[in-house]
Amino acid sequence: MHKFLVKCDEALKEISAQGRYRRFVALEKLADRFPYYSVTMEGRTRDILVWSSNDYLAMGTDPVVIEASIEAARRMGAGAGGTRNIAGSSPLHVALEEELADLHGKDAALLFTSGYVSNQATLSAILNSLPDWHVFSDAQNHNSMIVGIKDGRKASVHVFKHNDMADLERLLAAAPADAPKLIAFESVYSMDGDIAPLKEICDLADRYNALTYLDEVHAVGMYGAHGGGVSERDGVAHRITIIEGTLAKGFGCHGGYVTGDFKVLDYIRSVAAGFIFTTALPPPTVAAALASVRMLKADSARRALLFDRAETLKAKFRAAGLPVMASSSHIVPLMIGDAAKATQVSMRLIREFGMYATPINYPTVPQGTERLRFTPGPKHSDAMMDELVGALQKILLSEPAVTGA
Ligand code: PMP
Repeated sequence: MHKFLVKCDEALKEISAQGRYRRFVALEKLADRFPYYSVTMEGRTRDILVWSSNDYLAMGTDPVVIEASIEAARRMGAGAGGTRNIAGSSPLHVALEEELADLHGKDAALLFTSGYVSNQATLSAILNSLPDWHVFSDAQNHNSMIVGIKDGRKASVHVFKHNDMADLERLLAAAPADAPKLIAFESVYSMDGDIAPLKEICDLADRYNALTYLDEVHAVGMYGAHGGGVSERDGVAHRITIIEGTLAKGFGCHGGYVTGDFKVLDYIRSVAAGFIFTTALPPPTVAAALASVRMLKADSARRALLFDRAETLKAKFRAAGLPVMASSSHIVPLMIGDAAKATQVSMRLIREFGMYATPINYPTVPQGTERLRFTPGPKHSDAMMDELVGALQKILLSEPAVTGA
């Protein structure tokens, strides 16, 4: 057998032995009944109530958004047909970039294939621009930022303790005063649901003459008066050099973007491989995202409902004695503390109760902090929550003590 195939066997065995083997549950979204999905398991098809969608505001199934996508497909076809440079830039792409720049109060925006690519391509482009960058990266930054930073090959990388301003300042102070510096961080951290102290980070950036790169993937559409993210909510958007976001979560569609000063984005547009050498987003996707961004900019009702739903679920979990983690955001993590157990609880939820919540295991979270992640949205009713709490009590509290909870 080829060495690589032996390696595959060994690695997969080890992953399975650790209870981390990934099984995808194929869920068919029921657009007119979201958050219900249809699932076929063990020869049986039934409707499942899903608690783990990142379509946080149910925009992906909004009739206006769906219609915008259908209309664009009829008018312009299914795909862009080229990179942005080769026949792939449509007026829709330009309009969406203008809309996103305006959302964040910036000069310009650039669309990417995904949020992942926007982070990887932009961070690597920035950090390869000069030979002596020092980059300060939060310990819990998303993989797409870590990879983008690693791809900035000559940069000196300093990882600061998660949301720890004293540690960040210690590292900033130790770096050469005249070196170009960049602080890379997120606003809402998606696994613990905690929020970075944006103002303090901007103050440190000012003090040490550092640029700032903020991933607002789990905040855009949801935080701030117009959905501009935590940087809008906290009034600091103008102090952030680059705000990065996704169109795939709060906006319910697909694609990623960065916003910032015209000159900076013009540079990224001109050098970032992940922007240049790939087909532009499909027009139906761009049209859907444009409709979604415009709707959420104008209407705060969904945002208010999202936070009401998240707080209600947290309160119900607490009242029922379930091990809910403290979270200052719309994300509701339930601590399980063991990979096999998290997977098993998730499977029992589906099989016995017709509900789905994703188990989050290592390496997404540290070992011993495995959890189920709930993201209730505007369409999750109190009655659905009561049903969920009852199911979790039966699964978790009627069994021997849960490890690490
Ligand atoms: N940043 C963060 C913090 C994320 O959690 C994710 C994806 N879950 C991404 C970036 C990538 O975004 P996308 O799904 O649009 O690729």
